[in-house]
Amino acid sequence: MSEIEQEVKTFSVHYQCDDCGVGEMAPTGIMLMTHSPQYPHKCDKCGTGRTFADRYPKVITRT
Ligand SMILES: [Zn+2]
Repeated sequence: MSEIEQEVKTFSVHYQCDDCGVGEMAPTGIMLMTHSPQYPHKCDKCGTGRTFADRYPKVITRT
């Protein structure tokens, strides 16, 4: 076996508020321990709440 190096690109994924379209959904710091964890978020502009299975902003990598 030999090592294989591959360069990956890192992206920061933000979630724009569906309600006002201006604000960004920010985690409230609460994690719901359901069968799969849920993360309540709140818009930093209008205050709309929404719960996701992901925590935003999240970091993803792509090759
Ligand atoms: Zn909003």
